Amino acid sequence: MTDLVVRGGTVVTATGSLRADVAVRAGRIEAVERDLARLAATADEVVDATGLLVLPGVIDAHTHTRVAVDDQPDRFFQDSVAAALGGTTSFLAFNNPGTGSSPAAERSLLAGLGEWRAVTAGDSAIDYAVSLVVSGRMDDPMEELPAVVDAGVPTCKAFMIFDFRLDDRRLYDAMRVMGERGAMLEVHCEDPVLLDTAIETALRRGDVSPRYHATTRPSYVEAVATARAMAFGRQSGAPVHVVHLSSAHALREVREGRAGGVRVSVETCPHYLVLTEERYADPDPVGCARFMIAPPLRTPADRDALWQGLADGSIDMVVSDHVPDRVAVEKAEAANGVPFNQISNGAPGIGTLLTLVYSEGVARGRIGVERMVDLLATTPARRFGFARKGALEVGRDADVVLFDPSAKRTIMAGDLHQSSDYTPYEGMGVSGAVRDVFVRGRPVVRGGRFVGTRGIGQFVERGSPDI
Ligand SMILES: [Zn+2]
Repeated sequence: MTDLVVRGGTVVTATGSLRADVAVRAGRIEAVERDLARLAATADEVVDATGLLVLPGVIDAHTHTRVAVDDQPDRFFQDSVAAALGGTTSFLAFNNPGTGSSPAAERSLLAGLGEWRAVTAGDSAIDYAVSLVVSGRMDDPMEELPAVVDAGVPTCKAFMIFDFRLDDRRLYDAMRVMGERGAMLEVHCEDPVLLDTAIETALRRGDVSPRYHATTRPSYVEAVATARAMAFGRQSGAPVHVVHLSSAHALREVREGRAGGVRVSVETCPHYLVLTEERYADPDPVGCARFMIAPPLRTPADRDALWQGLADGSIDMVVSDHVPDRVAVEKAEAANGVPFNQISNGAPGIGTLLTLVYSEGVARGRIGVERMVDLLATTPARRFGFARKGALEVGRDADVVLFDPSAKRTIMAGDLHQSSDYTPYEGMGVSGAVRDVFVRGRPVVRGGRFVGTRGIGQFVERGSPDI
């Protein structure tokens, strides 16, 4: 009755590593023990994992994966394949403007949820879920929030910037309403007044090239907005999740908020852990636009502070913030003199999350492999309500990654199979490689190649975040 036994690998959990076998039955973990020879004798399949790490599949809690549209029918599926090849077995997507949502979906959370579920059904190679964006363009999102939570979407996101931002009062109300329902608001923390005035000044001076995207967003723009989110969390008593934290300055605000009792969790992203602001010195505007993300890349001191925060527990998780922009399309506008504030923000990363955290974090001794599992799987599962995922424990979904820590390779966009045409990490040498991936016990990647099926990925209706 056992479907699969993974034998002889090193099973890694958030609290320890041990040489053990893992048995899978009906899509769930059946047993994790030192020697499962007895189950292996009758199992449908036995996989030798000698020399490999056996990890819970990564849960990428922050992507802007774009849904299928008529002229790009494969982009959602393609990015789910890229995620699988990178060791991710579940991802969360946002339905913010630009990801393929209709005008009706941009006016109503429930309409957006219905549409998003319909268009993604049967399209993903791995499991997935959605965090809805509470937009300032909506008719009455507060009224809809309880029903959204009840529909298995216990996390939503609000932006303090962009033309679909929520003003402060509505952001506070959304946080409070969600908190009362056992749910959690995610906040993009950059201050709109400081940012808008800096952009106006730059444009007035004729500073339109992509490098001014970064100079108009110093870390205090992020930090003061983070401090405001902490104050909102403190007064409302509601949980708050800070997305893509990029700077030491903002991290100080989170630490202070947490010390003051705010129920805060915080994520950062590989680009802030691996790349720094020197990338904006590229004289080629399109080269520079490849790194146009918000917040922007920071200093080496910020990067080091983030690694320290991951190691000491003040940062809770690492996520990709994947945006499938393309050099040939969205970023190409930089070559035509389009001002930086009109060029799409974001960079692809759905396929390189585990790779980069392992290679730059574990292989370089900045964090242990158990901490990596906590940051990429166990804590994201807990905070985002994936009750059956995030750990190799009996009864949980058999989302399993076999990872070869001794492999060496070079990141190249052509190998990633994503819908974007570039990677910010092109040519970078990394340690470790994903060999096999199973989603609920089904093989999706074998020997580093995709062997899965479009549509086997299930939409996950999530429970309350544990904060
Ligand atoms: Zn994002």
